Amino acid sequence: MLTNIYPMFFFIIGTIMGSFFNVVGYRVPKKESIAFPASHCVNCNHKLGSLELIPLFSYIFLGGKCKNCKKEVSIIYPLIELLTGLLFFLSYLIFGLSIELLFSILFISFSVIVIVSDIRYMIIPDEIIFVFFTFFVVSMILINGFSIYKDILLDALIPFAFLYLVKSFGDLVFKKETMGGGDIKLMLIVGLFLGWENALIAVFLGTIIAFPISCYYYFKDKEHMMPFGPYLCVGALIISYFNITALEIIRLLY
Ligand SMILES: [Zn+2]
Repeated sequence: MLTNIYPMFFFIIGTIMGSFFNVVGYRVPKKESIAFPASHCVNCNHKLGSLELIPLFSYIFLGGKCKNCKKEVSIIYPLIELLTGLLFFLSYLIFGLSIELLFSILFISFSVIVIVSDIRYMIIPDEIIFVFFTFFVVSMILINGFSIYKDILLDALIPFAFLYLVKSFGDLVFKKETMGGGDIKLMLIVGLFLGWENALIAVFLGTIIAFPISCYYYFKDKEHMMPFGPYLCVGALIISYFNITALEIIRLLY
């Protein structure tokens, strides 16, 4: 018997939120409203009914096709729903009902939108950064009191400044844009989530994860630009789950 319904609850809420983050990640970069028009098929504009809006299940039952025009629906949508569900579920298992869970869910939400938007458009919209920055700052002040403002400033600005320097240096050496502005602004949120020390480790870890993948694309197509934001988010999530330090990562590697 299922004695604890919370893990399932967080999974389901995650898939529903994931469905919403799909919409946000696709529409905000195009400066479209996230509420209107209602969800529709991108091919035939068929407006989705309530049975076609159930996360994961609708995709499976409709065989991955639009009910009206039978055009294939991108697998990205259900994958994002599943990913969000699994991450919410995992965060509940690791943190329980706690403040950490709240911040973890906030950061997952941010990351999923970044993944959708950065992979599709190579953009992390300023609106998204601004909204989540505000969420983080307000929650931190409500929980810890206003005296935390010094920590907030350092945690947000040090990782931001660090990546800005890395980018400036990279641009000089390679004589081209090595990183987008969105990746640098994203570090404001990573810093607030992890604290500035761990945020720097997240950059290191994100780079390690991105490196083999970027090499693969580089050899296929030298002009290929790869979004870096999702890797920074994945690095940050791993650090938050395992609380690993730079030393441990180096030990794992050698
Ligand atoms: Zn259609």
